[in-house]
This record gives sequence, structure tokens and C-alpha cells, in this order.
Amino acid sequence: MEVKLVTNVLKANDLLAKELRSTFSAHRLLVVNLMSAPGSGKTSLLEKSLDLLKTEVRVGVIEGDLYTSRDADRIEKKGVPVVQINTQGGCHLDAAMVIRAAASLDLAGLELLFIENVGNLVCPSSYDLGEDFRVTVISTTEGNDKPEKYPTMFRQSRALVINKIDLLPFTDFNLDEACRDARALNPEVEIFPLSARTGEGLDPWCRWVRYQLEAKRAQG
Ligand code: MG
Ligand code: ZN
Repeated sequence: MEVKLVTNVLKANDLLAKELRSTFSAHRLLVVNLMSAPGSGKTSLLEKSLDLLKTEVRVGVIEGDLYTSRDADRIEKKGVPVVQINTQGGCHLDAAMVIRAAASLDLAGLELLFIENVGNLVCPSSYDLGEDFRVTVISTTEGNDKPEKYPTMFRQSRALVINKIDLLPFTDFNLDEACRDARALNPEVEIFPLSARTGEGLDPWCRWVRYQLEAKRAQG
């Protein structure tokens, strides 16, 4: 019974995600679903990426959070359109929430939309948000066993950002092992080791995002 219920919820979500995807593509919008455990630095990554991207690309953000608007407040300071979703304790975003949030954004005025998911490496991977692709963020202050422990999320991501490389000397994080494990799950994955704090490694990541935008445009 329980399994059936979950299946129905996911099916309903998939239908709404399909609707979202066609809305996004009508606006020729590239949509990135950003996922990680809490504290990996999704918001910091966004802040630094916006600094580099916003002069060339019209970018907006949907911020998912359990209760607060702290992350949205940080993004707002960057001067880009941002909408907050509070899940009231819900541990993932779903397509219905994104539909409501997207309604208060001027999608026609945007080229790129980041959706920061709720910090959680498990169930966000089950909920399609109509995105073009997913990016998972892990950080060097977590164990480098994250890919093996949460394979679904890593399999589904077009890119993996490994944040906080400035802290590598102070951790036991094994960068080579993390990359190897991630590629074993997902041979096509692009990996970006960087530090959202110092800005090291930000350029290749932002270049890749712009490339994804151009590739989507070329598709028509
Ligand atoms: Mg955040
Ligand atoms: Zn959840």
C-alpha cells in the first residue's frame, strides 16, 4: 500500500514536471537543479557564480529551504531575481512548488534559472523539477564516500562540484578517490573541484554553465 502511494505521488510529480519543462522550453530557459547535503555550499557557489555570470547572462534563482529565507536574502543582494520556497520541513522540492515559485518570476526575461534544492542527498533525486540537468555539490569537509553512499543522485547529475578545496589540507578527503567513485557511477559526469570561498576553480565551472546554455540554444 505504502509503495503504491509513493509511486502515485511520483507519477503526479512527473506530470507536473513535464508541464514545467514545456513552460521552460517555451521561454528558451536553461534550468539547473542544484542538489547537495546541508552545508556543502550550494548558496555560496551560487553567490560566486552569479558574480561571474550575471553580467553576460540574465539569470534567476529559486531558493528551496525548510523554513528560512536566509539563502534567498543572500542571493537577493546579488541583484538577480529570486523566489523563496519554504517547504515547512519538507525535505525536497517538488514540481508543484516550483510551478508556484516560477509564476512569480518573469521567465521571459531570463535565460538561466538555478533551482537550489533542499539540502538532502536522498529524496530530491526522485523529484523531477522540469530541469534541463542536475548538478550535485559535495564538499571536502564531508567524507569522500558520498558518491558510493548516495549513488542515485550522482548517477543523475550532469556535473559534480567538489567545493571547499581550499580546506583539503585540513581534511582526509581523497579527491582522486571521490572523482573515481563518481565516474564509476556516471562515466559522463563533469567534475569541478573549486572553492566558492576563495574563488579558485570558479572560472571553469562558469564557462561550462555558459557552454550548456549555448548548446541548448543551438538545439533550438
Ligand atoms: Mg543554501
Ligand atoms: Zn524528501
